[in-house]
Amino acid sequence: MADPRCKKCRRAGEKLFLKGDRCFSPKCAMVKRPNPPGIHGKSKRRRGGSEYGKQLSEKQRMKRIYGVSERQFKNYVKDAMTASGDTREILLRKLEMRLDNVVFRLGLARSRTMARQLVNHGHILINGKKVSIPSYQVRKDQVISVKTKIKESILMKDLSIILKKHETPAWLALENERIEGKILGIPSADDLGDLSPAGLVAEFYSR
Ligand code: SF4
Repeated sequence: MADPRCKKCRRAGEKLFLKGDRCFSPKCAMVKRPNPPGIHGKSKRRRGGSEYGKQLSEKQRMKRIYGVSERQFKNYVKDAMTASGDTREILLRKLEMRLDNVVFRLGLARSRTMARQLVNHGHILINGKKVSIPSYQVRKDQVISVKTKIKESILMKDLSIILKKHETPAWLALENERIEGKILGIPSADDLGDLSPAGLVAEFYSR
């Protein structure tokens, strides 16, 4: 049976990297069946023709990438819109600085789903203390690490070797031998990349 996570990618029309190692292999559903799911998938026209359609599909895509609920996502957008500064940057920064995303960006988990599980199960430490809230907003100078018991488990086997090749964004520093990372600061506009998708999302919620 088709995996519901892979269906999300096929619906979005791009890889969202929700399944860890499989996402990087030829077994990835986006390699084998890149059409939308369902019996009419091959012929289904993708949403996105109208301005509204583009905004809606961008909102859905971003929500799926970061794995947040509609309510939580709406709150992020609302906060970004009321804060002073570029709404697009503020929104992306909030999403990027979630603890589960940081665990993923540091390479401590192969997908955001796995990162969220590690956090939920209390395996992630901030400055040596357990934090089990995936949406927790990290701050400058905090050190993110994995509980010793988990580091030694099969789950983390060979992780320090894998991490040698892992590239972290400029706002994070990785200590691959110790399997821990540090928050160097907030992501800059350069770190956030293309802001136009976040712009479409803000327009969607301004309607
Ligand atoms: Fe499935 Fe990962 Fe491929 Fe998405 S990227 S289709 S989650 S294997």
